[in-house]
Amino acid sequence: MVLGRVLRPLFDQRCVGCGVENSGAAGGVCAACLRNLRPPLPIPPIAGLASCQAIFDYEGVGRAMVRALKFDNRRAAVAEMGRALAASLPPDTALVTWAPTTAARRRHRGYDQAHMLAVAVGRSARLPVIPTLARAAGAAQTGRSRAERRQGPRFIVRERAIGGLPELGSAPIVIVDDVITTGSTLRNAGRVLSTALAAPLHGRAIAYRAAR
Ligand SMILES: [Zn+2]
Repeated sequence: MVLGRVLRPLFDQRCVGCGVENSGAAGGVCAACLRNLRPPLPIPPIAGLASCQAIFDYEGVGRAMVRALKFDNRRAAVAEMGRALAASLPPDTALVTWAPTTAARRRHRGYDQAHMLAVAVGRSARLPVIPTLARAAGAAQTGRSRAERRQGPRFIVRERAIGGLPELGSAPIVIVDDVITTGSTLRNAGRVLSTALAAPLHGRAIAYRAAR
């Protein structure tokens, strides 16, 4: 039933990690899954970023949580992850932005998970969330050759959003993404942003998918 499909994500009580209902997760993450989340392996420095951190390792429960965000809009879990990311922000952060997904993917899913996370971070940390970046025209990551994918997605600065910002001085700007894999997304986002903003840039993601 169409209505059921529309409403289900809003009232989904299953844990995003294990899928167990009545786990006490209320659509977020249950205590058992939180215990099973592993801290991320050390993330190699990403060129142009003053720091780069993730909340948990992508393997195991972490993978289930990321997939739930990517393929199933789970708002309770997003709020929880936003709080966790907010606790990891550098001191005196001025604003939060995000590395946007392609327009095609956003239309297909109905949302951009990096944007959702950025909004959750901003809400938790009481910081402005500014759309500083847009995707440059081009195919989605999955439709490209391996060489192109290694280079990562291309971004452009949204001049109007940047032009409306007050003087930021040296207050940090945080770029949010869902998963760090090679680091190319945050690196490219940072490189483009640094042409328009002098503030130090920091990357934050919920999971780090280390090469194993
Ligand atoms: Zn669970």
